[in-house]
Amino acid sequence: MVINVTRSSMPTLEEYVEEIRPLWDSHWLTNMGDRHKQLERDLKDYLAVSHVTLYTNGHLALENSLAVMNFPPNGEVITTPFTFASTTHAIVRNRLKPVFCDINDKDYTIDVTKIESLITDKTVAIVPVHVYGNMCDVEAIKELAQKYNLKVIYDAAHAFGVTYKGISAANFGDASMFSFHATKVFNTIEGGAVCYQNSEFTVVLNDLKNFGIHGPESVEYVGGNAKMNEFAAAMGICNLRHLDGEIAKRRTVVEHYRERLDGVKGIKLCAPQKDVQSNYAYFPVVFDGYRYSRDEVFSLLAEKGIAARKYFYPLTNSFDCYKGQEGFDVESTPIAKYIADRVLTLPLYADLAIADVDQICDIILG
Ligand SMILES: *Cc1c(COP(=O)(O)O)cnc(C)c1O
Repeated sequence: MVINVTRSSMPTLEEYVEEIRPLWDSHWLTNMGDRHKQLERDLKDYLAVSHVTLYTNGHLALENSLAVMNFPPNGEVITTPFTFASTTHAIVRNRLKPVFCDINDKDYTIDVTKIESLITDKTVAIVPVHVYGNMCDVEAIKELAQKYNLKVIYDAAHAFGVTYKGISAANFGDASMFSFHATKVFNTIEGGAVCYQNSEFTVVLNDLKNFGIHGPESVEYVGGNAKMNEFAAAMGICNLRHLDGEIAKRRTVVEHYRERLDGVKGIKLCAPQKDVQSNYAYFPVVFDGYRYSRDEVFSLLAEKGIAARKYFYPLTNSFDCYKGQEGFDVESTPIAKYIADRVLTLPLYADLAIADVDQICDIILG
């Protein structure tokens, strides 16, 4: 038997077919059709946010949410290297300079006590990551941003469905990006969105994701193509109906992992965050002084057909494509390096059987 690290949520085939059936009448397959409009409305309701702009994937949503801010070239952006390649690449591809801040060793989000010393007169923004669905210290970040007049763009790829003090993750910062990739808690097969309060962004983001075309005879931006198609939107409409149930099932899985692994010497779990309603997106485990190293646990599981993931390893500030570039140095973020060398995310999805969780824990504890 094989257990993958994740398994995409899907509606029944019948439900999906009903959702795409109208496309055979309209022949309208992409370019902001009915399904696209419906999903934007559904997400606005679900996230209780004023504006949602859909994208073909989360990465391009993040690239465009930086582009819409109109930063000067070479502006500095404070971010963390303990993330998926997308976060750092999105900054660099916007001709901005990532400045790496370390993470804290509790929830692995940006260490807000280390941001201020990295701010220079070139700093334009902070791009923090709600890593594993753990919320960043949004209040401290907001304070710093106001004090130094910086924009905040959250990589909220992991945080769909997470709330802080009852407010959805979509509502913090100047913009928040979600990924709806097949491996995420909520998926549109591939997809993503930017959420924001400033209504002026809507027109620009919609232009940017469609070649910069503003009207039939006017092209205002050097835009790319990042539109979500109708089939992806239909998948999202269906999956959103079942999301709360999926999250509840994930919670059961996570609670069982905790029962088995919490308090074991040398095994460190993220504690639930105060005032945060989790989406149970990932289950990271740090092996620190345990009798097996992270790599040994990874291999023991792999031998049994169980795919855990070294997520996030390597750090983005050690990627080959950035080798030798100024500021890309894992030694500048020692906690991120420490965690990246020891962390493993265990299989987690809504339908993961409790017996499988037990098997995984037996191997780890065996
Ligand atoms: C998945 C992910 C992205 C990119 O989203 P895609 O939809 O795959 O393009 C960006 N940042 C983080 C932290 C992610 O996990």
